[in-house]
Amino acid sequence: MPLDIDTLRLDFPILAQSVNDYPLVYLDNAATTQKPQAVLDALNHYYQQQNANVHRAAHALSGQATQAFEAARAKVAAFINAPDTRQVIWTRGTTEAINLVAYSFGMHSLKAGDEILLSTLEHHANIVPWQQVAATTGAIIKVIPLTADAELDMSAAATLFSPRTKLLAISHISNALGVINPIKQLIAMAKAVGAVTLVDGAQAVGHFPIDVQTLDCDFYVFSGHKMFGPTGIGVLYGKRELLEAMPPWQTGGEMIKHVSFTHTSFGELPFKFEAGTPNIAGAIGLGAAIDYLSGLNRNAITAHEHNLMQQLLAGLSAMPDVRIIGRPKAGAVSFVIDDVHPQDLATLLDMQGVAVRTGHHCAMPLMQALGLEQGTTRASVAFYNTSDDIAALLAGIDKAREFF
Ligand code: PMP
Repeated sequence: MPLDIDTLRLDFPILAQSVNDYPLVYLDNAATTQKPQAVLDALNHYYQQQNANVHRAAHALSGQATQAFEAARAKVAAFINAPDTRQVIWTRGTTEAINLVAYSFGMHSLKAGDEILLSTLEHHANIVPWQQVAATTGAIIKVIPLTADAELDMSAAATLFSPRTKLLAISHISNALGVINPIKQLIAMAKAVGAVTLVDGAQAVGHFPIDVQTLDCDFYVFSGHKMFGPTGIGVLYGKRELLEAMPPWQTGGEMIKHVSFTHTSFGELPFKFEAGTPNIAGAIGLGAAIDYLSGLNRNAITAHEHNLMQQLLAGLSAMPDVRIIGRPKAGAVSFVIDDVHPQDLATLLDMQGVAVRTGHHCAMPLMQALGLEQGTTRASVAFYNTSDDIAALLAGIDKAREFF
């Protein structure tokens, strides 16, 4: 059954507003997605009815908060098909999840001369923590280059894997170009040389179902706010034996078994990695977002988003001075217009109520590789976008082209 987008949009109160006297056209979903009423209600319910710290107290509210918090963890585990809820670690987001792996696994397991394989398409969050690891351990960063179509060069990748490769850290979907990387193939290549694999799923989770067991990656990380959940909550999924072997990263309350002034023993998974009071409301809100998404026809969502992307790509292709960067497949489309600075275009679009993003999209090395030092304009879709949204964007771009 096709999606009834007009009805679904009613679940997202923010979408009904006007911006600069135009109906809001929100096409900055790769930066963050809007939240359905069910998520806002879950946050309110927690603070109005259940607010208490988790795991510690014997009183009723703490019991309820703990139950809701742990139920949300179980929802995440089911959502990504993790074999065990203990393999779901709460973090502040993708960035913190990658830092956790870098500082716990990377700093302790990598040695001088070991190689960390990244790709040219990575977000800074999946570059900078590894540079820190390399600077401390003497590990070496290698980078999978791009083809002329701005996709990963898989034959070059094949030559970069060797027994020295200890870690592959790769995005599932590029936030800057909307390219879907062949991660199953890359994970298999990494396994063939015994390397550990981390997939940055920040841009994937909101668009299609994820199955970490089918992917067979060692780590999968994502942010709640890019899948209709709150900001400040994210997830690190990891293989059990790796998580068990890794030392804690942050330490303090919540993550311990016993503390004395001479010795501390650490808690079991997942608590070993969750120092301090967690983002309880955020976790519950993310659980509500998962309930909401699970109630939708996800195949229909994928098909609808695909149609929006096709409409956008066709419209942009018809403009001779517009250049689409790469071959976008999911979520985002990046483009440049001859003689128009992306920032000027975005300002003109904003005057017409259309929200897009411009700049380097936290992927400066990618922009350098593409020779796009001014960055691009990026429009990114979610399932609540409509064909009218895309038409408004295209009309806005047309107006801007006349103006400049
Ligand atoms: N990786 C990718 C591919 C992203 O798109 C983002 C967010 N733009 C991040 C990592 C970082 O996510 P967060 O800021 O939520 O930690």
